[in-house]
Amino acid sequence: MTDLTTLGIAAIRDGVRDGQFKAREVAEAFNAKVAGARALNAFLVETPEHALAAADAADAARAAGETLRPLAGVPIGMKDLFATKGVATTAASKILEGFVPPYESTVSQNLWNAGAGMLGKLNLDQFAMGSSNETSAFGNVISPWRRPNDTAALAPGGSSGGSSTAVSAGLAPGATGTDTGGSIRQPAAFTGISGIKPTYGRCSRWGTIAFASSLDQAGPMARDVRDCAIMLEAMAGFDARDATSLKLDVPNWEAALSADLKGKRVGVPKEYRVDGMPAEIESLWQQGIDWLRDAGAEIVEVSLPHTKYALPAYYIIAPAEASSNLARYDGVRYGLRDLPEGAGLQDMYAATRAAGFGDEVKRRILIGTYVLSAGFYDAYYTQAQKVRTLIARDFERAFGECDVLLTPTAPSAAFALGEKQADPLAMYLNDVFTVPASLAGLPAMSVPGGLDKDGLPLGLQIIGKPLDEQGVLNAGLAIEHRAGFTARPQAWW
Ligand code: GLN
Repeated sequence: MTDLTTLGIAAIRDGVRDGQFKAREVAEAFNAKVAGARALNAFLVETPEHALAAADAADAARAAGETLRPLAGVPIGMKDLFATKGVATTAASKILEGFVPPYESTVSQNLWNAGAGMLGKLNLDQFAMGSSNETSAFGNVISPWRRPNDTAALAPGGSSGGSSTAVSAGLAPGATGTDTGGSIRQPAAFTGISGIKPTYGRCSRWGTIAFASSLDQAGPMARDVRDCAIMLEAMAGFDARDATSLKLDVPNWEAALSADLKGKRVGVPKEYRVDGMPAEIESLWQQGIDWLRDAGAEIVEVSLPHTKYALPAYYIIAPAEASSNLARYDGVRYGLRDLPEGAGLQDMYAATRAAGFGDEVKRRILIGTYVLSAGFYDAYYTQAQKVRTLIARDFERAFGECDVLLTPTAPSAAFALGEKQADPLAMYLNDVFTVPASLAGLPAMSVPGGLDKDGLPLGLQIIGKPLDEQGVLNAGLAIEHRAGFTARPQAWW
């Protein structure tokens, strides 16, 4: 019998529906994989019973002759930034240790409504702040990938490092991610999987622990483009509880998948050729251009002149919003409370926040409160907002000349754990290609393009017009067909 954990979302869905195997067998197989991979530290909480219950419901529905729901029998991993009713949710921070939400996030509820089951809650950078999963209070996630003849632990990317690891190591056929400045796309690129951040407002933020509210978007991470389309259909949709949720029907992205790009124009932004970019990434990008031309697209060079200001603007806006969102963790309402002997209210706030937040979170709160403070607000925050508008206009102008943009996802392959930890700026630079689309609220995806000389995955990014997830997915599919990327990490764990 085939190992069911080698199957992706579409294959599991179809196999359960056609009676090739039982959903329960699928859930059992993945539960065993999760339990056997604790060395990777991808899961903060394992919920095998949740996966089994959803599987049994799918099997019962099939036995009763009912039409199966879109994700019936598909177990997934849930980034621990989504509140899950009755299941501990910490955002990988000590300040939320012991917090068990009495409610379910909209995105996770949408997935359960579609029939999916939960394998567990996935590790991440604390409050989704990071690019390597090293800011988690509960230990690094270790990438399942290694360089040849080298046992050095590599970063799985961040902040959705548990999600990228779970999918690439075959512990889950798909996982949720969230992307504020690249946290779906960069970890997908580092681990050889696909991931899409939809247009801002497609997925409800309700019940997702907030980092930077004007940027945060949920999206799927999965083995291929089709699986991403299926999962995103289930996650997206209008939600009256999120004021920025888009009141639009969810398109049937899977049904409209097509790798034929005839009549489409692909823009190549010249400002993304940054100094010091490895030659291998440059040549993969050229390869991607050739693949899309082969798929029928016309290639045009475009200019996004404000690209170089995106990173500094992001690292003002995101911390500013974070400092406000994180003010609620004060020891009164959630999780940790540090109440020193004889302490007053202010002392309790200070002690709780000092003990509960990690260094990177504190750094962001300090930057955020600084740029929002009287006297500095206009110099930093207002300026950054203006830059954000200019970046959005760059994209608008470029999309007058093309349908999608093609860029590398990240300026490097996965780096070693510890390599960039001491230098926050080096870490922030990793987001150089992903942040602009986040600031403009655009849909963007990473698909695997190939391996570097060390055998590590490299990703290509496709950025689309607002609401054109279909155009992004289709260009991704055209690359997927031509890249023929089948590399998987060899199990060492
Ligand atoms: N790496 C970026 C940051 O640290 C993006 C994180 C994210 O998208 N959640 O802010």
